[in-house]
Amino acid sequence: MINVVWFKRDLRVHDNEALTSAAKDGPVLPLYIYEPSLWEQEEMSFTKRAFLRVSLEELNLALKELGQGLIIKKGNAVDILDNLNKRHGIRGLYSHQETWNGWTYKRDLEVRRWLKSKGIRWHESRQNGVIRSLKDRNGWAKNWQSQMTVPLFKAPQTLDKVGEKTDKIDLFNNKLEHNLETQMLAKGGRKEGLSFLHNFLNIRGENYTKQMSSPLTAVDSCSLLSSHLAYGTVSIRETFQAAQSRKREIQSFEKLDRGNWPSALNSFLGRLRWHCHFIQKLEDEPRIEFENMHPVYDNLRSEKFNEDYFLAWKTGNTGYPMIDACMRSLIHTGWLNFRMRAMLVSFSSYHLWLHWRLPATYLASLFVDFEPGIHFSQMQMQSGTTGINSIRIYNPVKQSRDHDPDGIFIKKWVPELAHLAPSEIHEPWLRCRIKSYPVPIIQEKVARKKAADLLYGLRKNNTQHNKISKEIVNKHGSRKSGLRSRTVDKIKNHQSIKPTQLTFPV
Ligand SMILES: Cc1cc2nc3c(=O)[nH]c(=O)nc-3n(C[C@H](O)[C@H](O)[C@H](O)COP(=O)(O)OP(=O)(O)OC[C@H]3O[C@@H](n4cnc5c(N)ncnc54)[C@H](O)[C@@H]3O)c2cc1C
Repeated sequence: MINVVWFKRDLRVHDNEALTSAAKDGPVLPLYIYEPSLWEQEEMSFTKRAFLRVSLEELNLALKELGQGLIIKKGNAVDILDNLNKRHGIRGLYSHQETWNGWTYKRDLEVRRWLKSKGIRWHESRQNGVIRSLKDRNGWAKNWQSQMTVPLFKAPQTLDKVGEKTDKIDLFNNKLEHNLETQMLAKGGRKEGLSFLHNFLNIRGENYTKQMSSPLTAVDSCSLLSSHLAYGTVSIRETFQAAQSRKREIQSFEKLDRGNWPSALNSFLGRLRWHCHFIQKLEDEPRIEFENMHPVYDNLRSEKFNEDYFLAWKTGNTGYPMIDACMRSLIHTGWLNFRMRAMLVSFSSYHLWLHWRLPATYLASLFVDFEPGIHFSQMQMQSGTTGINSIRIYNPVKQSRDHDPDGIFIKKWVPELAHLAPSEIHEPWLRCRIKSYPVPIIQEKVARKKAADLLYGLRKNNTQHNKISKEIVNKHGSRKSGLRSRTVDKIKNHQSIKPTQLTFPV
């Protein structure tokens, strides 16, 4: 009989508890299931398949070095496991606990039912700080910290050969996709992930805090690890431990020699916690993939969805240079920094007044790092439907002036404007009509004011708003210190709190 290690979003042999534990318990069949119906979902575009392909190739090589390469099967998970069970006999199934989207949740339920019917045990291990069946957020941050400091799991020294064939899958469709792959910022595979990590912690990251907001500087000063964390080519625990160790090294330097590293590393470590904090929200409340976190906002964007606005936004043709440059750059590279993601969503949700759900699917299809727990929580935060975060409507012209003053980023991605001077590029419509570039599809100030009035009006006038907000804080709010937050205490003591007083990771 064999143990099956089902690789899902942990495409590595190092710090992989499932693999290490299974190998201690007999022969191991390392399995990746390419599930066509998962990859047919709208969120799953080519760039993710390209990242997956490189990552699987490297995982296969790493496993081969241990003695047994990766077995890839294409099809439905239950059918594949059933077939393997008939031919080999499965003693145990080993994998990490997966919090992904509604599709993977349902699939896991089917797998669980099948395993139960066959009397096979599923050993699921935690690979991040997300807690299954969490009762209460109090103490969550402390738990996260201790999960991150667990010693890394060593890869097994050898794996016995198991006679099983791998399916051939072609993850490329056409030449166009090959071209797209060359422009992707993160291409996949553990080697790249480790090099990003090393490079960030030792060279690129020093000005992280100062430079993360501009799309010009973020590419060099952010870690670019998000896709690697999403596919598990690098584990969040080893990332945390590497950053902690670098922090200790910096602390050992003379104060003057520390440069900007202390604040950069603290910000980075904080964001690793946010990673799990946001996924925890989806784990605790899976409906937020589809529904507003705060139900009072359900009727807010109920008018007919404006397809023309949506198309202009999707293709980078809104007439607002910074919005269009960000969208076009994202389409080509598969990555965008946090502030510019937030600005794109703020524009679609507030200025264009589009419900967040379709833009969320579209952006998810572009982000190689699509991580449903982070993505849907952030989409809702930036659309004002959580009811617990301050409303932030980004002015795209201000963002453009602040973060790309000379128009370098804009010129790269919106070549129609390449001939404009820095004084003209942020608001080209003020200069003259440029034939090849659209005029703004909405008036920024007017649209922003309308959105703000509607949102603040709803917050103020709906008697249920604050009551429900408090429940949401209680369920999802972060308690940074790991102790109960003052906010939660206030709620328990029935003191009144205004939504703007609440602090959450942005
Ligand atoms: C609308 C919207 C959608 C988003 N969707 C995703 C998504 O699908 N997947 C994803 O990984 N991130 C998402 N983010 C968060 C953030 O933009 C990306 O994590 C970050 O830009 C990735 O680049 P990096 O790896 O260089 O990040 P760094 O700044 O180097 O941060 C290191 C890691 O910390 C985590 N992190 C950073 N910022 C955040 C944040 N605000 N919330 C939660 N975790 C964070 C990520 O895992 C990231 O890889 C989204 C943000 C917005 C506004």
